[in-house]
Amino acid sequence: MCGIVGIFGEPGGKNVKVFTDMLQMDVIRGWDSTGIAVVDKKGTWEYTKNVGLPQVILSDHQVKHGMLGHKRGPAQMLILGHNRAATKGGVSIDNAHPFEHNGIILVHNGTLFNWESIQQGAEQRFPTDSEAICWHISKHGVASMYEKMDGAAMLVWWDDEHGRLNFLSNGKRSFLYGYTEGRKQLVFASEAWFIKGACKRNQMELEDDKLYKVDDHVHWQFRVSRKGRVVGEAADLQPFRATAPIICKGGPERGKTVWNGNTWSDSDQAEWDEQWGIWPSSAVNEPHQAGKLVPVAGTKEPELFTDPSLDVLRKKDIPENIFHKMYDKCTFCKNELTHDYEDAVILDDYEAACGLCSSLSELEGIRMVSGKGV
Ligand SMILES: [Zn+2]
Repeated sequence: MCGIVGIFGEPGGKNVKVFTDMLQMDVIRGWDSTGIAVVDKKGTWEYTKNVGLPQVILSDHQVKHGMLGHKRGPAQMLILGHNRAATKGGVSIDNAHPFEHNGIILVHNGTLFNWESIQQGAEQRFPTDSEAICWHISKHGVASMYEKMDGAAMLVWWDDEHGRLNFLSNGKRSFLYGYTEGRKQLVFASEAWFIKGACKRNQMELEDDKLYKVDDHVHWQFRVSRKGRVVGEAADLQPFRATAPIICKGGPERGKTVWNGNTWSDSDQAEWDEQWGIWPSSAVNEPHQAGKLVPVAGTKEPELFTDPSLDVLRKKDIPENIFHKMYDKCTFCKNELTHDYEDAVILDDYEAACGLCSSLSELEGIRMVSGKGV
């Protein structure tokens, strides 16, 4: 479980406040390490990361008065933050996000299964799946990375060469974004209530009060137009497809097993075809089409996110005994959920909030979100 937050577009006095509020809310999704990347209007980027809570970084003098300070020359066009809960790779500064390879500055929420294979050809072995993704995109392009992405990934990265902010999701982690009035800024986070809570607290209005989901298998790129509006462009990508499994069959009437453990001979195939009339799919991956770093972007209607009401989230479609097997503690207050079946809110496959925390969020006017795992 990790979380991503950020704001992109016209620099303004409220941006840093909205960002730091979201970064501190995001700690519920990961408390092992924190990272912040900043890009100014000239395209100059810098990032910092450290082990520990957001406060460790936010209270650092250089971060407070430098990267996030008001005195910074052309102020922050992009502020990107990540809170990490370690999965692949231990807790260390090196393994904290963001990662940077050849001008790709990337944060990742999720875990890959095939992270060893995506770093083939690298001069070093990366200790985390996230850094391997960053390297692969910088080396082979986003299309190549996406078709190899076996597992869960919500990626956000800055592309220094093209001056674009990029979103890419394979639909296994929640991620939302909205625009401020006049599309001056794009505000984004792993959970809707981070955006709504931080904007409300800092009197930053969202355009039409709308949030959007990042569509599965779509690469979104954002830039700031000459008129100072955030413009999004999108391109479809080919998702990962698992290789078909090898199926071996044998029987007493055949006297032997066709599969010899290594290769199929022609006679095996003839025999197989005769016997079964089918042939298993090749276990060999087809060579990938190396994609350009940035696929040709087009326009696409963003997918509107509708906030489910707490009443809907309280309706359990699982019986009480299963609920207690799946959820033991409240995500927010960490209290046991033993007596909370009726009032608890199921947030996703792993997380639930107790009745008290969900009613408090209702009072605050912040809606909790049902996502797909974290
Ligand atoms: Zn609670």
